[in-house]
Amino acid sequence: ADAIIVNTCAIREHAEKRALSIIGRYKHNKARNPDTVIGVCGCMSAQEHRSEHLKRSYHYVDFAFGTGSLHRLPEFIYGALTKAKRSFVLDTERPQIAEGLPVVRECAHRAWVSIMYGCNNFCTYCIVPYVRGRERSRMPEDIIKEVRELVESGCKDITLLGQNVNSYGKELDGGYDIAYLLREISKIEGDFWIHLMTSHPKDASDALIEALSCKSVANHFHLPLQSGSSPILKRMNRHYDIDRYLEIIDKLKRQNPSITLTTDIIVGFPGESDEDFEKTLEVIRRVEYDSVYSFVFSPRKGTPAYSMEDQIPEEIKKERFERLTELQNEISRKKNEAMVGKTVRVLVDGKSKNNDKIYTSRTEGNKIVHFEADKDYTGQFINLKIIRTDTFALYGEI
Ligand code: SAH
Ligand code: SF4
Repeated sequence: ADAIIVNTCAIREHAEKRALSIIGRYKHNKARNPDTVIGVCGCMSAQEHRSEHLKRSYHYVDFAFGTGSLHRLPEFIYGALTKAKRSFVLDTERPQIAEGLPVVRECAHRAWVSIMYGCNNFCTYCIVPYVRGRERSRMPEDIIKEVRELVESGCKDITLLGQNVNSYGKELDGGYDIAYLLREISKIEGDFWIHLMTSHPKDASDALIEALSCKSVANHFHLPLQSGSSPILKRMNRHYDIDRYLEIIDKLKRQNPSITLTTDIIVGFPGESDEDFEKTLEVIRRVEYDSVYSFVFSPRKGTPAYSMEDQIPEEIKKERFERLTELQNEISRKKNEAMVGKTVRVLVDGKSKNNDKIYTSRTEGNKIVHFEADKDYTGQFINLKIIRTDTFALYGEI
């Protein structure tokens, strides 16, 4: 390659370690070919201590920058090609929204569209507000245009992205909010699903819940819980307690009993007692999520939780993580089994990797369904009857 650019994540330490080891490997590329341009971008390189480290200890890295400077990539590459300068840019002060950048989409029938950037919430465990800066929303007309073009080009599943899509539009003039955006997008003609990723319970308004029943909005809601214990939520600076969280879940289920519910949970936050953890399991049992994305707490330098006392020992975190996974697997299996005999609408992704006759698809609630077919339905909606299941997938027939 003439240019190697490593895009990084900073959400947990594991991601950063992997990124650093990948960057390390490219030392040989530069040694073999000194003209190779090597850059690092994304959230890891938006942290001052990481940027400094890359600059000092990785002399073959030509530039590093955060997500807010993506539009300057040509300038950084030019600097490297002309050997004019190495650039190490920290950009979270006043990052701009750059519209109209070229996009290469890997898949024709599924797309991800950012509707806002940054975060104002400062949950005490989270690095995102430090590396992405404050919330900025794209103008609704820019988003609607992008979604319309995607639908016209045959895209069937579009995920609207933001750290907290529920607070979309707050800082724009015009009184826009996420409910408005969903209603406007639903006016676009065509057969497609809109997903949201991700929502914060403190901003899950009634207007948003109502807007979820608009045509085209998928029958799926991802509502991060993080912990089932109100005192831990307080220490996490989440601005809701368990009663409020469950009230939102009940409203969602009342409005649509067949809704697919998913969540994010952190185990082993500093000070999490056995009782706190049991409360998390209790919420999981009560809500019966379709799936849970669970994470072992990873201390992030610069966040308040990094220096909190009463950090939980690794083996306890691991043990709690395993108990949670076991409970959730049982629930997922039970929920999947309840689907046997039912007919579901799926969007077909293509042939499965290991078997030429088997295709893979996803339901509106993002559940994976495998099926056999002689014809290629990739990128189309079809109906499948569920014939069997396991913990992680469903199996259907046309
Ligand atoms: N804005 C989203 C979260 C984005 S990060 C929200 O508020 O829900 C995705 C998930 O990573 C979070 O929901 C959280 O569960 C997890 N996460 C974030 N920081 C973490 C940390 N320091 N250790 C472990 N998990 C973390
Ligand atoms: Fe991080 Fe999400 Fe909290 Fe923002 S709302 S600080 S992105 S966990």
